[in-house]
Amino acid sequence: MARGVTDLAGPIATDVVVVGAGPVGMTAAALLAARGVAVTVLERNPSTSDEPKAISIDDEALRTFQAAGLAPRLERIIVPGTGTRYYDAAGRAVFQARSGWPYRLGHPFKNPFAQPDLERELADHLRGCAVVDLRMATEVAGVVQDGSGVSITTVAGEQLRARYVLGCDGGRSAVREQLGIAMVGRSFDEVWLVADVLGDPHDERYGMHHGNPERPAVIVPASTAAAATSSCSTTARAPRVTGRRSSCSPGCCGPPADHPGSGRALRRLPVPRAGG
Ligand SMILES: Cc1cc2nc3c(=O)[nH]c(=O)nc-3n(C[C@H](O)[C@H](O)[C@H](O)COP(=O)(O)OP(=O)(O)OC[C@H]3O[C@@H](n4cnc5c(N)ncnc54)[C@H](O)[C@@H]3O)c2cc1C
Repeated sequence: MARGVTDLAGPIATDVVVVGAGPVGMTAAALLAARGVAVTVLERNPSTSDEPKAISIDDEALRTFQAAGLAPRLERIIVPGTGTRYYDAAGRAVFQARSGWPYRLGHPFKNPFAQPDLERELADHLRGCAVVDLRMATEVAGVVQDGSGVSITTVAGEQLRARYVLGCDGGRSAVREQLGIAMVGRSFDEVWLVADVLGDPHDERYGMHHGNPERPAVIVPASTAAAATSSCSTTARAPRVTGRRSSCSPGCCGPPADHPGSGRALRRLPVPRAGG
């Protein structure tokens, strides 16, 4: 930590406090726990997110989850190795990209999933780890470091001492702000609409990117198994593009040729511009 170095007395209660139980915080906690490091995760919301967000895990991410002992759990919620079919402005398929074989990191490159499913699995995993204390509905208000550790204060007034703190509290990170750490990177200029959908009629088992300049859209398959256990619903986000997640009945579409397992398709469909 770069700022706020004062000498605060107090015993260290845990090795690491992770602020934020999003994908980054829970993955970091799982990696630490896999190495026997005691972790306390503090999340301000009462539960993990149920909003449609990220829709594809790549091979590097799966390798990371594998290192944390999460691979068997995540196999339940992904559609492995779908590849992507690209369409031109007229709706004609131009080409389809897929992982080569053998896989460079032992996993296919493109694996559609739904972020709420991932977060739920990560939280369930952490709850089963003896060295992890996952505390929901616990918002961090302050972080101050001294020579021997970090003092974390929650909005409820609780104080924790840890050797280290990880600020995994998202794009509007309070930890980062307190420490004067700037946000790097940039966002898309355009606003997109993202939705998870059950009962969608598409049965393609690959991602579809529609390159229509007027109405760009992406559609990807979703896991039938995950859909059966999660509360997926259509969520309108913005008036530009609809992202849809669909569930297929088992066996209706078939898995990718080089992969056994469940079917899941993720798709995104165009929404007319205002007045269009
Ligand atoms: C609509 C939408 C669509 C997206 N689509 C994609 C996509 O297609 N592909 C892709 O790769 N990414 C996508 N993303 C981005 C992706 O969701 C984020 O990159 C990802 O969630 C970041 O994970 P994170 O753990 O860093 O942060 P977050 O998921 O933001 O998690 C941070 C957590 O910290 C908690 N928190 C915040 N402040 C505090 C505090 N003071 N104390 C305690 N807890 C706190 C929050 O409640 C939250 O649970 C999308 C995002 C959105 C919103």
